Amino acid sequence: MSRSCLDELEAIALVERKLGDEEREAVTSHMDECVECQQLVAALARATPERRQASPWVAIAVVVATLALVGLALMKL
Ligand SMILES: [Zn+2]
Repeated sequence: MSRSCLDELEAIALVERKLGDEEREAVTSHMDECVECQQLVAALARATPERRQASPWVAIAVVVATLALVGLALMKL
């Protein structure tokens, strides 16, 4: 009772926890037997958090830079 291999969209949906219970179960039981899909999902799981963390860090850097500039401006008063 094995389904076919995941395509990339299904793998992304799994990594981002957007699959329904039934679909996730079918996908994970397929992955128990399929090294290719395990590797695909593992690669996506590694890549996805970095993409997500990038934007908050940029926002923090912008805030820190802004505070530094405000601090410099205040010191000149
Ligand atoms: Zn597969």
